[in-house]
Amino acid sequence: MLLDKDRIFTNIYGMHDRSLKGAIARGHWDGTKKLIQKGPENIINIMKESGLRGRGGAGFPTGLKWSFMPKDSDGRPSYLVVNADESEPGTCKDREILRHDPHTLIEGCLISSFAINANVCYIYIRGEYVREREVLQAAIDECYDAKLLGRNAAGSGFDFDLYLHHGAGAYICGEETALLESLEGRKGMPRMKPPFPAGAGLYGCPTTVNNVESIAVVPTVLRRGAEWFKGFGRPNNHGTKLFAISGHVNNPCVVEEAMSITFEELIDKHCGGIRGGWKNLKAVIPGGSSVPCLPGDLMHKDAIMDFDWLRENQSGLGTAAVIVMDNSTDIIKAIWRLSKFYKHESCGQCTPCREGTGWMMRVMERLVSGDAEVHEIDMLLDVTKQVEGHTICALGDAAAWPIQGLIRHFRHEIEERVGSKKSGKISAFAAG
Ligand code: SF4
Repeated sequence: MLLDKDRIFTNIYGMHDRSLKGAIARGHWDGTKKLIQKGPENIINIMKESGLRGRGGAGFPTGLKWSFMPKDSDGRPSYLVVNADESEPGTCKDREILRHDPHTLIEGCLISSFAINANVCYIYIRGEYVREREVLQAAIDECYDAKLLGRNAAGSGFDFDLYLHHGAGAYICGEETALLESLEGRKGMPRMKPPFPAGAGLYGCPTTVNNVESIAVVPTVLRRGAEWFKGFGRPNNHGTKLFAISGHVNNPCVVEEAMSITFEELIDKHCGGIRGGWKNLKAVIPGGSSVPCLPGDLMHKDAIMDFDWLRENQSGLGTAAVIVMDNSTDIIKAIWRLSKFYKHESCGQCTPCREGTGWMMRVMERLVSGDAEVHEIDMLLDVTKQVEGHTICALGDAAAWPIQGLIRHFRHEIEERVGSKKSGKISAFAAG
């Protein structure tokens, strides 16, 4: 279990003073000028050595991403954009940083922007996070007053401005290029890639888009060293991580833990166990609603909560939003609800996603009630494969994967439902 002395987020539950004074007392903003004086190349190398992989879902190495930014400007400015559009169902970890520990993020924005030669950073926060936005703006204002932001930020000689922008509540704006479109004042529709944001991002300028948690851990990693951060987790899966556990556990929570913790330890130590005991565990969605679910017996016996183990088992760590479902769950209906969500959030730009999400949702609806033929299960699986990988952005995959996970592990339940409906054993299952 992660020791308190190794926690990066020291006020994740809002028990302490979140103001600048409180943050400084807990060790944040300590020697920021010295960290900046390490120089951009050094900072990027330390982040590469630390093994930090992006905390927004894809798990791309953060230091490597920064190294794609141009070292010398061709006349265009560079930008850092922080993705705080936390909208994936089940995911609520960045929220705790934003509202209780905002200075970890602000200090991270300053240092990370310096590393990629960006004098301006935008934080794009989801529209529904109204209170979080107020807290974060107040913290930014405090930093300007204390001269930690603005001209000669933190006495480093580096001029830096930080702007907070709030979205209007569309899930798709969490996709990095849709976020940039929205930030520029247009409809949040994903862009074709290439060009990638590091070449042409915000206003056509070199841009890095990072998740809140990825940026908020940067100052502590630099202060305590790459080796310290690397000391947690298995190779290729380093560091500490915020896990957001919801659903049928006794105490749902957000907790910072070492990467590669076992699922059993995570649930028993922090969530008071599964509701009704481990035998009552039916399925787990381990990384936010877009990753395929895994069956309870697999999660109980072997599961390691990191990028590689979950990928090897045909799921993913994603945002580490762990959704636990016990035996009372109608898993078909649960996945149908996710299908409905993705259908609603599709921006409609590409045909496989626009048509496929609706088609998949309607078939799922019939599977919930049992009003289907058994061969339609394979037909549905086939359609998910035609959507997956054939769209501009990852929403198509996100809509396909939960259904693939359902069919992979709970096909018997769907077949039983269809069979029972045919034999008259069940009359109706409401899909509303
Ligand atoms: Fe829009 Fe869906 Fe295409 Fe993404 S995959 S660009 S959400 S239509």
